[in-house]
Amino acid sequence: MAAPNAPAGTYRAPDTGPLPGAAPTTRIELRGVSKSFDGDPVVRDLTFEVMQGEIFGFIGPSGSGKTTTIRLITGVYHPTEGTVRLMGADPTHTSRQVQERFGYMPQHFVLYPTLTVRENLYFSAALYGMGVVERRRRVDQLLKFVELWDARNKVTVNISGGMQRRVQLAASLLHDPPLLFTDEPTAGIDPVLRGKFWEEFRRLRDQGRTIFVTTQYVGESEYCDRIGVIREGRIIALDTPMNLRRIAMGGDVVDVESDQFSPAAIYSISRLPFVQHVQPVTHREIRVHVQEAGAAVPLLLDAMNDNQCEVQRIEEYRPSFDEVFIELMKRDEAANPAPEGAQNA
Ligand code: ADP
Ligand code: MG
Repeated sequence: MAAPNAPAGTYRAPDTGPLPGAAPTTRIELRGVSKSFDGDPVVRDLTFEVMQGEIFGFIGPSGSGKTTTIRLITGVYHPTEGTVRLMGADPTHTSRQVQERFGYMPQHFVLYPTLTVRENLYFSAALYGMGVVERRRRVDQLLKFVELWDARNKVTVNISGGMQRRVQLAASLLHDPPLLFTDEPTAGIDPVLRGKFWEEFRRLRDQGRTIFVTTQYVGESEYCDRIGVIREGRIIALDTPMNLRRIAMGGDVVDVESDQFSPAAIYSISRLPFVQHVQPVTHREIRVHVQEAGAAVPLLLDAMNDNQCEVQRIEEYRPSFDEVFIELMKRDEAANPAPEGAQNA
């Protein structure tokens, strides 16, 4: 947080465009970034980009290196190896121009417990050097945005944890940043409020902003445009939610139900060129692993027809993100077994 004696009157409305010299749409760029503390690597060889206008989810278990990565991107830490670019600049030497373009909602953000919700926001706005009129306008606008208008005069210590997180979100948006970092914003809050946070992120994204968000809840993958999966400091997968499913399951999955399956029918399906394998589920249901479900369904119907099997139901099976992540973690564990004697958290 800025020092309480930050100079007043320095607030400027942000320019949402890229800095001169930056690629037009790249907001964040990491190349081979590693960070060690006392020789112990905490994150290793991180290479990825975050583009303008996307919700980039950084998902991994506790202790996997999410907060460290945010601190590297925002210039709190110097990388031990590799390069980080934040809006085209080195974040450890940022100008005020860069600092004004991002907001940061830390995992553990301090609010003044004895101030009201609105006073907390006024206080933060003053730190940004916002004038009185601008401050009032912006704070009121954000109180409505995060649906805290009715709670604006409550003392912060007396509101729920979920509401406190929303005050923190509003505080990180005061200067209207085009890029927002938010570290586990939904941790420990109930599913309804979690849904609201994601609605807010999507609204911000739809305004052209970029959101870098971390979470331990893998089910929240579906709200992100792209996801980086981090395990023990390494990115083990990075793609859209749909493609992560494909990577984890080795393609798409189609369930076929019929009460007329015959061994010959199952055999002929398993021989189709786009079918990877067939897994019997019950005597009247099979699960077919294919390259791409959309193209496979009509061809599977033809094959069933050729074998005189009437189909009762055929549909793509979408594994939950819990299943997807378990699969991704299992694959990574098999490919990169923990060194002997290492503790698994
Ligand atoms: P996450 O945010 O995913 O829970 P962190 O990035 O906070 O993970 O931490 C990753 C690992 O790095 C943890 O084992 C943590 O103890 C270690 N770590 C984080 N910051 C420091 C630090 N300043 N000094 C030493 N170790 C640290
Ligand atoms: Mg963390």
